[in-house]
Amino acid sequence: LLILGIESSCDETGVALVRLEEPSEGGAVPALLSHALHSQIEMHQAYGGVVPELASRDHIRRVLPLTEAVLAEAGEQLSDIDVVAFTRGPGLAGALLVGAGVACALGAALGKPVLGVHHLEGHLLSPFLSEDPPEFPFVALLVSGGHTQLMRVDGVGSYAILGETIDDAAGEAFDKSAKLMGLGYPGGPALSKLAQQGDPEAFKLPRPLLHSGDLDFSFAGLKTAVLTQAKKLGDELPARKADLAASTEAAIVDVLVKKTLAALKQTGMKRVVVAGGVGANRLLRAQLNAACARMKVRVHYPELHLCTDNGAMIAMAAAMRIQSGREQPRTEYAFDVKPRWPLDSLA
Ligand code: ATP
Ligand code: MG
Ligand code: FE
Repeated sequence: LLILGIESSCDETGVALVRLEEPSEGGAVPALLSHALHSQIEMHQAYGGVVPELASRDHIRRVLPLTEAVLAEAGEQLSDIDVVAFTRGPGLAGALLVGAGVACALGAALGKPVLGVHHLEGHLLSPFLSEDPPEFPFVALLVSGGHTQLMRVDGVGSYAILGETIDDAAGEAFDKSAKLMGLGYPGGPALSKLAQQGDPEAFKLPRPLLHSGDLDFSFAGLKTAVLTQAKKLGDELPARKADLAASTEAAIVDVLVKKTLAALKQTGMKRVVVAGGVGANRLLRAQLNAACARMKVRVHYPELHLCTDNGAMIAMAAAMRIQSGREQPRTEYAFDVKPRWPLDSLA
């Protein structure tokens, strides 16, 4: 089966082709043939955040040229596509409607079935696109721009939330701290880069809920502490910015790592998967790798360029849902989107 995946939930238009072997050919991991991405980050930067209406319009401009590009790269034709998968939610309603509308129109025109995919399931399964794919079951740390969750994953569609953020997501903590340090949008990668030149112990920043005894997170207070510290520094801020960035990154990563280790202990699992944009963070990878090596736990990440939003993870999630028998693509082209959609409501 040749599966086209379309991602348009936020500010990245992503399209990809994945090949799923027929069930009779064995249980091979679906193969990524090609993928293409257009990031709208530059367009939104002037506003300091994503402008939903601009995002929708840009998805409309990009999605068909990207589709042509992935077909050309894979040497396939539109008529070769067997299933059209799209991100059904969660995300910005208008942005989701573009991907869903285009996917269903393509499906109807080609007479091929369509399949709506959960964006976070895409992130969660994205490590299966790497050279060293994980095996079920595992603990998952999902750390993206909008979500921070620890999950117990027993198989495709079997997702139990062990803990989650009660306010901001980890990506938001990076982005909001970066913004008030004048590092642009989205500032996570910039803050992390600057942090390499700073002292992570220069400022004492809070580790919210670190000792709460559960697996929940809270990052809103950290952002406030960073703001207070920045104000206190005043004119000194430019000279101390790298130290503040390093201290902020250390605080966020410390909580993420310790809670992940607690989830491993609680579940007794020996495997952990990290997914979502913050999964690209170097310090997080270094600290988690070191801790997991001590605990004899295997860690899996998506490839660096597949940590943030992309079409490959959507095509892959569709392929794995079909392969697991949990989903049958449908030749029914009336569509809806789910801007809010809890991951543990999936089956
Ligand atoms: P969601 O998937 O929850 O809807 P999203 O799609 O916006 O949110 P992603 O695309 O998974 O989120 O990730 C984007 C986030 O990852 C941003 O907050 C960004 O700052 C953060 N990020 C990316 N790279 C890094 C890095 N190296 N260090 C820290 N944060 C990073
Ligand atoms: Mg994004
Ligand atoms: Fe995302």
